Amino acid sequence: MTQQESSSEDGRPKEANAGRRGRSRVSKADGRASARRPAAPPLPEPVVPAWWEPTGGLPAIRITNVRAICTAPDGIRLVVVKVETSEPGLYGLGCATFTQRPLAVVTAIEEYLKPLLIGRDPNDIEDIWQSSYVSSYWRSGPVLNNALSGVDEALWDIKGKRAGMPVYQLFGGRCRQAAALYAHASGADINELEDQVQKYIEQGYRYVRCQMAVPGYSTYGSRGAPRTGSNAERARAGDPRERIARQARQPWEPTPYCRMVPRMFERLRGTFGDEVELLHDVHERIPPIQAIQLAKDVEPYHLFFLEDALAPEDIDYFRIMRQQTSTPLAMGELFVNVNEYLPLVRDRLIDFIRVHLSDIGGLSPARKLAAFCELFGVRTAWHGPGDVSPVGHAANLHLDLACYNFGIQEQHVFGERTREVFPGCPEIRDGYYWANDRPGLGIDIDEQLAARYPFPEHPLNGAWPPVRRRDGTVIRP
Ligand SMILES: [Mg+2]
Repeated sequence: MTQQESSSEDGRPKEANAGRRGRSRVSKADGRASARRPAAPPLPEPVVPAWWEPTGGLPAIRITNVRAICTAPDGIRLVVVKVETSEPGLYGLGCATFTQRPLAVVTAIEEYLKPLLIGRDPNDIEDIWQSSYVSSYWRSGPVLNNALSGVDEALWDIKGKRAGMPVYQLFGGRCRQAAALYAHASGADINELEDQVQKYIEQGYRYVRCQMAVPGYSTYGSRGAPRTGSNAERARAGDPRERIARQARQPWEPTPYCRMVPRMFERLRGTFGDEVELLHDVHERIPPIQAIQLAKDVEPYHLFFLEDALAPEDIDYFRIMRQQTSTPLAMGELFVNVNEYLPLVRDRLIDFIRVHLSDIGGLSPARKLAAFCELFGVRTAWHGPGDVSPVGHAANLHLDLACYNFGIQEQHVFGERTREVFPGCPEIRDGYYWANDRPGLGIDIDEQLAARYPFPEHPLNGAWPPVRRRDGTVIRP
């Protein structure tokens, strides 16, 4: 049933009008009885958002279609939502990229959110978020939140386009002109790592995340195949089957890694001095007590932050870690419910929130979380790897510009093909992200071009291959 079929001339649902007429007839038929008894109070009329009258001085528009667009221009599985409206040419884009489970997100969008949204007024962002969130009864989680994020960010994009303003203007305007970025330097050994840090410093970056391989181990964030591998093996490193096989051949052990990291930072500080800000991602791979020792061991090297020293399952250890070290702590990339941040922020146990925006449901919850953190002196560091789509990076950037408690932004340098598919991708200059001044999120998608890059074949259909210890125990990736 369409919006038009279900509503009458005055815009109210037919059921509501029928109810009023029905009560009127009963009253007349009751005759003398109603004269003796006080009339029953009128029943409250149903309030159904689909029939809300447009407000704000703009002509009424409706959501006419919601689609998930899948594309992988540079091999990374990206999902973007397009919300179309009754105004010709007006649509919004939002990031719904959960690259390890993209097809589950597509189903959540097209089979479950779309029926809720057709006919709605796209202006009602908050009500659409809240009503979509509870519509599954069991809520939150990465699949449903990514679907919700795709819609939410698209609605902010639409609102900005209608207002003729970039989204950061709707959030209160800019606190800064550009967002400082941190780049990823990684190396098979310290010489390769230093070369990369030097390269980024020369390009204008002042924040660099440093990761280095532990020889013989499958180390998170280390660059490419190990130098001990054959040339043929390195050439095949881009092949997912080869990557999975290599990872299976290389186990992970926490202790050699924990010995390596402080030595790495000692060398880097000796080479580059104190001006450059250094970061590191533990990727939740080590037991909590070793994480506490590691945070103490790197204290002399004054990191900008140590990321994911603990897993979401171990967050109570932050209380102990905080008492033992002043190394700044970043946490939250794996959280999938905005409420997970609250105890860590409220008790001042971390310094930066890491947030994969689409995993908590998009811009609307992220704005609230950022405002909450500001009151506790906690800064933002939105997750910005390659498996956040360029639309998601644009959403990050609008928050970076508008949130007073901005800390740092993780960068990803998208390949040329991805930039062609997504015109308006945020620009990187001198170690900063720069927004364009186009209305909305300022980014578009060339759907014809996107269709040329379907998801690539992958032995695990895009899943993260298992990482194991020497004895075969699987660990967190
Ligand atoms: Mg991380």
